[in-house]
Amino acid sequence: MNPPDPMASPSSWQPLGEFLVVVWDDGHESYYPLEELRRACPCAGCSGEPDLFGRLSVGPKPQYLPASFQIRSINPIGNYALQPTWMDNHSYGIWTFERLRAICPCQECRSS
Ligand SMILES: [Zn+2]
Ligand SMILES: [Zn+2]
Repeated sequence: MNPPDPMASPSSWQPLGEFLVVVWDDGHESYYPLEELRRACPCAGCSGEPDLFGRLSVGPKPQYLPASFQIRSINPIGNYALQPTWMDNHSYGIWTFERLRAICPCQECRSS
């Protein structure tokens, strides 16, 4: 019996065309369509999650531009998350490795 897998973390990440390509330290590769990644942005403004005080943000729905679906840069946060900065300067979304790995769109991950 193997111990449970430690959480995979990305060993590299880069925008490639219309995808964000993440290579995980267990050798897995994930191709995230940038548009879907942005639409799934986990920040409170985009997802409508309650803020620290439990208030639900009821601002207008996010307005997307073509630049909203292009990544300017990606910064690692500690050893648990990636924070993309989009071309429209949106950078509130913090993707934990766990969350990112969980939405890997590849066939293998989707079927498991
Ligand atoms: Zn957002
Ligand atoms: Zn996968």
